[in-house]
Amino acid sequence: MTELTKTLELKLVDPNAHKREKLRETRAAYQQALQEAFDANCSTLGEANDIVGDYHLSGYAKNALKRYVPQLTTTYGANELSDDHPVRFTNEGVKIDHKPENTIKWYVKIPHHEDYHLWVPAQPNPEQRDWLEAVIAGDADVGEGRLLKRKDTWYFHLIATRDIPLNSEVPAEERTPIGVDIGEASLVTVCHRDEHGSPTNPELWTDEGKTVRRLRKRYFTTMRRLQSRESERIADTFGDELWAQIDDILHTVTREVVEYAESVEAPVLVLEDLTYIQESMDYGDYMNRRLHGWGFAKLHAQITYKAVERGIPVATVDPRNTSQECHACGEGGTRPQQATFKCSNDACWIEEYQADINAALNIADRYLSGESRSREHENGDDSAEDGASLTGPQDSQADAETQQATLGMYAS
Ligand SMILES: [Zn+2]
Repeated sequence: MTELTKTLELKLVDPNAHKREKLRETRAAYQQALQEAFDANCSTLGEANDIVGDYHLSGYAKNALKRYVPQLTTTYGANELSDDHPVRFTNEGVKIDHKPENTIKWYVKIPHHEDYHLWVPAQPNPEQRDWLEAVIAGDADVGEGRLLKRKDTWYFHLIATRDIPLNSEVPAEERTPIGVDIGEASLVTVCHRDEHGSPTNPELWTDEGKTVRRLRKRYFTTMRRLQSRESERIADTFGDELWAQIDDILHTVTREVVEYAESVEAPVLVLEDLTYIQESMDYGDYMNRRLHGWGFAKLHAQITYKAVERGIPVATVDPRNTSQECHACGEGGTRPQQATFKCSNDACWIEEYQADINAALNIADRYLSGESRSREHENGDDSAEDGASLTGPQDSQADAETQQATLGMYAS
């Protein structure tokens, strides 16, 4: 068995004026409290508690905030706060209900303040209905809830965790790690080592990378032009179509990555851990481009769930410097061109190597060197493995444009 965590996305359906007002109040109070606790640099639950106490918020939102701020200030070392944080609620305050006999079949309970909550009808992401049913049946554990707003639409995200059986019972340390690099020159690159330790059978999705880049570029240029002419409706339709094309490519590539893994005996797919990258605001340009430009989190999420659904385990490793170290000697190197890694160690037999394959091998090697992190994070939250950050509005400001683009798919 392995645990799979997913962010379940629900769009709130036409809340009436009263409910909208309550949602707005909750969001405003939460963001104010968050800003105050962050500005005060609260690094413990107790410190955050002293600040949020006076705010007009439910205990569920306060408790979630108290846990979240110390993570921001210490673990992630964030140095600024984006102004678009979702309102978080601890799992005790969140509930969903299913009424199959109604036109709108799903309802979300959203805490407002102490003894007051709202039930709001919601439309789930159609691909996630089985997950919601698992939640209703008690087969999935519910984590944090998040309330967010994009343009004039409200969304509710629910973190859920489920056990999925694994086909093979090969012990973790006897598996063959397949490194998955999500990059720029190539959309995705996979590689592993054969039984003698030699790099073997690399596969690169370079053309797909080019296509996605081209579509994205077209998307942003056209959107800017259309929006400046105030033809927002046309812009939205156009954007949805382009984004659907990108999404198709991502789905095809991630399916092929999982097929690659199936061709290897006792595989484990190894990806970079997003937990710390995602919220760290000062990770540098290269990482930001990868994260936000490529739908990194989305690829990551798709590979994870497609693999797990096929019984292939997935592990994540520390992402630091995977593209700057030499897979042969471990020394640092340079990237004279985007697709080329050059080892700086004179004694190393490698002079130049395909950069994405080098990174994929480093990622694979970290699985066995014990730099692997457990996929199951504390509280099961803050993980972008499920694609939360790109399938819906999320915390980080830098990917706002990508989010809006992706959101179109599901918001319509
Ligand atoms: Zn080297």
